[in-house]
Amino acid sequence: MKEFTFSIPQKIIVGKGALEKVGQISVDLDGKHAFIISGPNLEKMGIVSKVEGLLNEVSIDADSYTNIEANPSVTTVEKAAKAFIESKADYIVALGGGSPLDVAKAVAVVAKYGGSITDYEGAHKVPGKVIPMIAIPTTAGTGSEVTAFSVITDHIRDYKLTVFSYELIPNYAILDQNLIMTTPASVAAACGIDAFIHAEESYISRDASPFTEAMSEKAMELIGRSIRAFVADRENQKAAEDMLVGSLFAGIAFSWARLGNVHAMSHPVSAYFDVPHGVANGILLPTIVNYNSSVDEGKYLKIYNYISEEPVTKEQFQPKMLTEAIRNLNAELGIPDGLAAVGVKEEYIKAMAKDAMKSGNIMANPRKTEYEDIIELYKEAM
Ligand SMILES: [Zn+2]
Repeated sequence: MKEFTFSIPQKIIVGKGALEKVGQISVDLDGKHAFIISGPNLEKMGIVSKVEGLLNEVSIDADSYTNIEANPSVTTVEKAAKAFIESKADYIVALGGGSPLDVAKAVAVVAKYGGSITDYEGAHKVPGKVIPMIAIPTTAGTGSEVTAFSVITDHIRDYKLTVFSYELIPNYAILDQNLIMTTPASVAAACGIDAFIHAEESYISRDASPFTEAMSEKAMELIGRSIRAFVADRENQKAAEDMLVGSLFAGIAFSWARLGNVHAMSHPVSAYFDVPHGVANGILLPTIVNYNSSVDEGKYLKIYNYISEEPVTKEQFQPKMLTEAIRNLNAELGIPDGLAAVGVKEEYIKAMAKDAMKSGNIMANPRKTEYEDIIELYKEAM
């Protein structure tokens, strides 16, 4: 066994109605003035003002910034950081899906240390503690509430940059299934398959440890049994709970084990063609599962049994059955079956492959992968 390290350095509160605790948690954090970073839909739905109200009840002032797009940009981070500084707030409440959460983490760095978020691109470039943060996910999910990553789109380079630092892990995470029950079906499908892929890629990663494997397995069990039911009916309490906890555990797993080729290749797809993160991942997954099947050492059988309605034995199982099962799951969830269907153009494959090779996730992928392999994999996934 390789040496391994882990910690879960934050306090995580999970439960129906847990959002109500945001005031008390802010007091525990010694927050005096909150800056809520969220998205336009959550503002429209009144969830931002609900959080403001809960904070006001404990005499905490709150400002907010909600002008955040999908695949948020470097410029959005600049604007939000400027608004944070002007508000004189002393902590951040990040409320939303992956986009607001990733922006909030980037703001926590830039507002403290200055410059542009591009200055902190890569691993461990953040000099120290950042602005304190409470993360409240409203999708299940990116796992961003517990991860050490912020992914931001740089439109100058058509590139999704990653900031990786354990300083980015929010101090608190509040997971309340009431918040995910208003997700539209298509968003639930994209975020749900993304969460599953976090569990799957971290599970077979070269950097997996017994700790992350345990987290990934539980995540796949919960997501596997509930993703279909949740996408069909977001009001399904049990399924919502499973998806929320599953995406949380998957996030913890990949914070330590990293991911693989699916995520390395999906970021360029989103950067060039503005495809939602989960959709890009879902489309790429069967191709990469097939590619990695030649180095499988028995984990594929377990993954198969987590997502299949009829479990099989070792004797009955062949790795190609997993590829097939994932194609079927994608179809059930309404994920398109090729990159061409979401507007990806063949002539961009070389540029996308170059960018994919810059991702740290390539090194974590179980099967060794070179630039030429990525080209082939993109072609196959078209
Ligand atoms: Zn993801």
